[in-house]
Amino acid sequence: MAPASALGVGHRWTGCQNGGCRVRGRRHSDNAAANHAPMPKQSSVARRMQCSVAMASIGHVLIGMAAARLSRERQRTIWSPVTAGVIWSGLSLLPDADVIGFRFGVRYEDTWGHRGATHSLTFALGVGILVWVIARLTNLAALRTSLIAVAVVTSHAILDTFTDGGLGCALLWPFSDERFFAPWTPIPVAPIGRAFLSGEGARVAAIELVAFAPFLLYAIWPALPWSRPPRR
Ligand SMILES: [Zn+2]
Repeated sequence: MAPASALGVGHRWTGCQNGGCRVRGRRHSDNAAANHAPMPKQSSVARRMQCSVAMASIGHVLIGMAAARLSRERQRTIWSPVTAGVIWSGLSLLPDADVIGFRFGVRYEDTWGHRGATHSLTFALGVGILVWVIARLTNLAALRTSLIAVAVVTSHAILDTFTDGGLGCALLWPFSDERFFAPWTPIPVAPIGRAFLSGEGARVAAIELVAFAPFLLYAIWPALPWSRPPRR
């Protein structure tokens, strides 16, 4: 994928269908034309490893924690704050469940590969509908809870487009398999899996922790008197 300026387009979001996998802001190819050509010949494993990068997930978790607090405002739930934090953080991380596909031969750039269908707006909407049903069954504010869920899952995909490596996100799936990056990609990617337990992984995690600190503060800040749920 070539940067928006190189392509001469004025769209806020830019995409590329073939290749364009980036590592630390660099592409495997040097010019825009080559970036739209198939990737250089190499084994699928090697190629997968080169593309096996993602957000360190600290930001996704902190957004989930903030959503847990937001969802508990003005309504009583059966979940403790910690349980709610775990559930909402899991929801925020849900799109990255697609990395399981690596084990079954799904390639990064496939529709169900990493940052593919699960990083689309349609997927977020589907999760929202499911949460609406669960909220109805558990006497939660269904519309409010499901809207927060859609926002959380959508935030995952949008944030991933701001990272400086890997492939972009298939935001418009199933209408298009095109992968999108934001024009500005300030969030560094981290290695996936055990490779995350490295100096580079720690560096990226620290950056995310600082960048998303406001969400952490909101999540753990003592409740204000007027924001406590009504007593029964
Ligand atoms: Zn992701």
